[in-house]
Amino acid sequence: MKNRELFEEAKGYLVGGVNSPVRAVKPYPFFTAKGRGCVLVDVEGKEYIDYCLAYGPLILGHAYPDVVEKVGEQLERGSAYGTPTLLEVEFAKKVVEHVPCAEMVRFVNTGTEATMAAVRLARGYTGRKKILKFEGAFHGAHDSVLVKAGSGATTQGVPTSKGIPSEAAKNTLLAPFNDKDSVEKILKKNDVACIIAEPVMGNAGCILPAEGYLKFLREITAEYGALLIFDEVITGFRLGLGGAQEYYNVTPDVTTLGKILGGGLPIGAVVGKREIMEHFSPLGKVYQAGTFNGNPLSMTAGYTTIQVLETSPVYEKVNSLGESIRKGVEEIIEDLGLSIKVYGIASMFQMYFTEEDVVDYSSALRADKDTFMEFQRGLLREGIFLPPSQYECNFISYAHDDRAIETTITTMEEVLRELK
Ligand SMILES: *Cc1c(COP(=O)(O)O)cnc(C)c1O
Repeated sequence: MKNRELFEEAKGYLVGGVNSPVRAVKPYPFFTAKGRGCVLVDVEGKEYIDYCLAYGPLILGHAYPDVVEKVGEQLERGSAYGTPTLLEVEFAKKVVEHVPCAEMVRFVNTGTEATMAAVRLARGYTGRKKILKFEGAFHGAHDSVLVKAGSGATTQGVPTSKGIPSEAAKNTLLAPFNDKDSVEKILKKNDVACIIAEPVMGNAGCILPAEGYLKFLREITAEYGALLIFDEVITGFRLGLGGAQEYYNVTPDVTTLGKILGGGLPIGAVVGKREIMEHFSPLGKVYQAGTFNGNPLSMTAGYTTIQVLETSPVYEKVNSLGESIRKGVEEIIEDLGLSIKVYGIASMFQMYFTEEDVVDYSSALRADKDTFMEFQRGLLREGIFLPPSQYECNFISYAHDDRAIETTITTMEEVLRELK
């Protein structure tokens, strides 16, 4: 079977041939037949070293043996019960043990659901309508966060999608990341229920918080009576067991988790201080519910993954490989005299074809994304899969090794030489 032909057929049945827009790569995407370790194999039998890792969840790589075994066993005992289980309690305990702000947990099914519930919780708890998010931050695909900066002097957001009423977007205010003044001005002028922030922006490439910025967000939200929500759907269990809040030593009121938390199965979670979390139904008046919340397959995959993260040297390995790849690419860039910026932390990295520092969404937008895509396609041809967008982040898993990283660096050098 050929990728090109399968894409033609897919377009007849699936909108754009895909089920999530980033997958609709031009001229056609590859269709995966299987994944194992750090490798994806497509329907033509071609192999790729995978730095997309399903856009973040697979910190142990594809089909990690313990996860496969435990999920298989659980499947035989049933895949959904509609009743509470021991497993949910044990898994929640683990999350509380590791994530600094977590005193209680609500498991949901996706990161989108988690941020939707967290924003509702913040509004219900504070009795305020407005929320503040950062330009270029992604918090899933629901109305109050699919919002971009308005034009001119306004901080008020406009929808990034048709079908979202401007009334819904008008309660979402926007500030540039790493900018203190804008945040302060907005909080001064408006009653804001919460600031929701990706502590490391992973949906505009990879943008790090400036020194002291997260601490500033912590202090200013406390001062103005707004909640601080860290959206750690990417950074949770990626920067360490305690996520970015542990790494940067800044504890938010509420955190959203997803991706790695589910060990490769669908999941999301809202966690936070008890006093706030108890506003969720059934205790409180902020409604949240879901047929598959806490489903035993996701619980099992997530729990097993976190056990591995606790007991194996996963972070040492992936962080050191992250360091190697960032250093390796920087050396090539210097040798070839190219204007490319490399950013990253732990096992995350991204490159921007630009001379200026990338500190927020607008500087990310000024980088040359067309050259990035040529680079991405060049690597793909040679069997290296980076997510097909300048505005995604590359990840490394426990299944990657020195050889995979070396091959990748060598291939990057060849492709960059060609582009030059
Ligand atoms: C992926 C992501 C989400 C959405 O999670 P889904 O499971 O895709 O709904 C939310 N926030 C951030 C920071 C993400 O990276």
